[in-house]
Amino acid sequence: MRLIYICDECGRYIDEIEMGIINEDRLGFDVLTPEEREDLVHLDWNRQVGTVRAICDSCWGEGSTEKEQDGEIIH
Ligand SMILES: [Zn+2]
Repeated sequence: MRLIYICDECGRYIDEIEMGIINEDRLGFDVLTPEEREDLVHLDWNRQVGTVRAICDSCWGEGSTEKEQDGEIIH
């Protein structure tokens, strides 16, 4: 199965990986609640394609910058 990572913020294609056997523990999906997993991970077993919603580097960078600025204001 091929897993395609798409940015949840801007919809940009991030990356994709080819997996012989899906092991959800190895993917880190076990840290998600069942609701989050349903929302973020869509596996199409017929087409052998899964899409995973993630955050791309640029969106992630923007978010962390905002948090740092908030922290400085508080301090
Ligand atoms: Zn993005």
